[in-house]
Amino acid sequence: MRVLTCYNCGSDGRAFYAEENGFSLVRCSACGLLYVEERPDDKEIAEAHKQGKHSGLKELNMTGRFNAAKISRYLKVLEDMFEGGLGTKATWLDVGCGHGEFIAAVKEYGSGRIAVRGTEPNIHKQESARKRGLDVSYFDIESHKEKYDAVSLLNVYSHLPDPPAFLELLKKRLNPEGEIIIETGDTACFPAKQHYRPFYLPDHFSFASESIVVDMLRRLGFEIIIVNKYPSLPFDFRNIAKEVVKAFLPRYRSSLRYYAKWWRYTQTDMFIRAKVKASSCCTSAM
Ligand SMILES: [Zn+2]
Repeated sequence: MRVLTCYNCGSDGRAFYAEENGFSLVRCSACGLLYVEERPDDKEIAEAHKQGKHSGLKELNMTGRFNAAKISRYLKVLEDMFEGGLGTKATWLDVGCGHGEFIAAVKEYGSGRIAVRGTEPNIHKQESARKRGLDVSYFDIESHKEKYDAVSLLNVYSHLPDPPAFLELLKKRLNPEGEIIIETGDTACFPAKQHYRPFYLPDHFSFASESIVVDMLRRLGFEIIIVNKYPSLPFDFRNIAKEVVKAFLPRYRSSLRYYAKWWRYTQTDMFIRAKVKASSCCTSAM
């Protein structure tokens, strides 16, 4: 189905950005969001997420496997965000929890005092997480009634057809002054040549930036607590080797400015912690 306007600012102005797997990525002329111009319809998306398989010119299998190394990385991310503990939080929902690595990290960081559950559409990932004793199933956020002290959304934003609508639903699942943790890429402002590949179209529908997500959260009644950025690992490893080689080529401009810019291009993995503003919590309580 053709996407008529940008979900962030409503503009229909766009320019071609890149092509992959039979899908085109365009850049919104008004806010800079990168989004897929023609995406699969909602039924196809739901089925693709359930099986972890996404059709294009090539079929993408996005199931993967449990990765224990992610837990120690997430523990560092949690410490950077919460500096010493999770306070009085008692309940936590991880949306699109995959194999459950972040759930395991939150449980460990909270010293086992937090009830963490996950919702995951991919049936293979659900099974993998449950095998590790994690509380993971799949439920529809729109009809779900429970509320939580925190909701996290890691590497999910780019898979959402309409992120503002989904974040609004999540806000209704938060207790007063509840918190949301979002991990996504900060890449929308990059020139197409500098953007990491593959885009994984049509598993991903859009790529945002810090200002796009921060402004969106503020509009929805959240207050930003902290934004932290980390190297995007696959990008980092590939490019470190490339840049070392380039640095020894005499024709290559290895100026400090270039390296400062290159460093910026590696810090694309963004974690945002925000809380529901006291003044806006009652309007969303349903
Ligand atoms: Zn826009």
